[in-house]
Amino acid sequence: IVLSHFNVNRLEDLNSRQKSLQASCEERLRQLQDALRDFGPNSQHLLAEINLVIAASVDHPWERAVAGNKVPYYINHNTETTHWDHPHMAQMLHSIADPNEVRFSAYRTALKLRTVQKKLCLDLLNMNNAIDALDQHQLRGENDRVIDVSDVLNCLMTMFEGIAEDHHDLVNVPLCVDLVLNWILNVYDSARSGRIRVLSFKVGLIVMCKAHLEDKYRYLFRLIADTNGFADQRKLGLLLHDALLIPKQLGEIASFGGSNIEPSVRSCFEKAGKNRSEIEAAHFLDWMKMEPQSMVWMPVMHRLAAAETAKHQAKCNICKEYPIVGFRYRCLRCFNFDMCQNCFFSGRKAKSHKLTHPMQEYCTATTSGEDVRDFTKMFKNKFRSKRYFKKHPRLGYLPVQTVLEGDPLESPTPSTQHIASQEMHSRLELYANRLAEVEQRQNTSTPDSEDEHHLIAH
Ligand SMILES: [Zn+2]
Ligand SMILES: [Zn+2]
Repeated sequence: IVLSHFNVNRLEDLNSRQKSLQASCEERLRQLQDALRDFGPNSQHLLAEINLVIAASVDHPWERAVAGNKVPYYINHNTETTHWDHPHMAQMLHSIADPNEVRFSAYRTALKLRTVQKKLCLDLLNMNNAIDALDQHQLRGENDRVIDVSDVLNCLMTMFEGIAEDHHDLVNVPLCVDLVLNWILNVYDSARSGRIRVLSFKVGLIVMCKAHLEDKYRYLFRLIADTNGFADQRKLGLLLHDALLIPKQLGEIASFGGSNIEPSVRSCFEKAGKNRSEIEAAHFLDWMKMEPQSMVWMPVMHRLAAAETAKHQAKCNICKEYPIVGFRYRCLRCFNFDMCQNCFFSGRKAKSHKLTHPMQEYCTATTSGEDVRDFTKMFKNKFRSKRYFKKHPRLGYLPVQTVLEGDPLESPTPSTQHIASQEMHSRLELYANRLAEVEQRQNTSTPDSEDEHHLIAH
């Protein structure tokens, strides 16, 4: 085909315009890529800027320094020593590691976790805000991905700047961000490789943030479910593993069945039904509501938080505290016998009251109706033999078979205190006896019958 002179000129003109357009596109792309590298979410520039802000998390003689893999460490110029832990973190870990008097491991662990949660201001972090921040930083899905310290820092900055808008006087953003990073690394990267899995990061934040317990369970399950909402044993194992590293970091794991998550996974799948290869959210929720031994610290932490502000119109029969603040324990065998949480946790005895008596736990103030029911129950218990209680053991959690063979992940030998408390668990049988059950019972047609074990078990 022979083109006219006019058309040839036009074609050449179009070609050259297209070429220059392409060139300027490439140039623009290069500029954007450079900008992303220099100023984007993973840029050295931004990281340096964040580190500059967070450097304010320590005061003289401390200095915050950053290792090659972006992991922070702390220099004490007085003692000329370096530390992985922020001085506030070290102080807090020291204070909660004090041999304390709480006999029950689930409560002891919950008390420690609550202290950590408050120190890190994670009790102010709403779960939905946390999820928004994760999404904003492109971490939705992505649970198998490995991220580095700058990703974690970026995300935490967004979360805590959000908290600071609502609680300006309560949060010191650089300090909180630095402490949460410190805690996340202690739990999930104690060797300080500078890399953690997105799943671990999310599990740590969600377990410790502010939300209803059931909402947390749902979100945690979503992290491991496929697009059809199913999770297999391996996925559940990953989730439980990451969750259990949290009490483990506090030296509290022996009482929760050790680091071996296999019995817990099996227990959950067995509860879901025979020969299931996958479970759904409802199965996971049902199992968690039974408070399995490995995870019981989590609901207890929530009850503990709920009990903190509760004032009960009752006097502790031992230390005489009135009103009782925190958990209130009422003996179901002795007449009108109440204990505060300190006396109960430390196992203080009274003349007629024995440590083996069944107890009712309240984390919110009681109504008069409940007092009447407790009285009825107490009255019945008076005439029940020891054998009755032996035959109706009340477990506050769903026990999972403890596996004794060596586990390389197992924490150091537990102290005798922990072993003793393990035994106390089964002896006391009372944890789960919550208001919820009482209310449930109120709504059922069968009035208080021979069903304590049913009432208390989950
Ligand atoms: Zn007391
Ligand atoms: Zn008693």
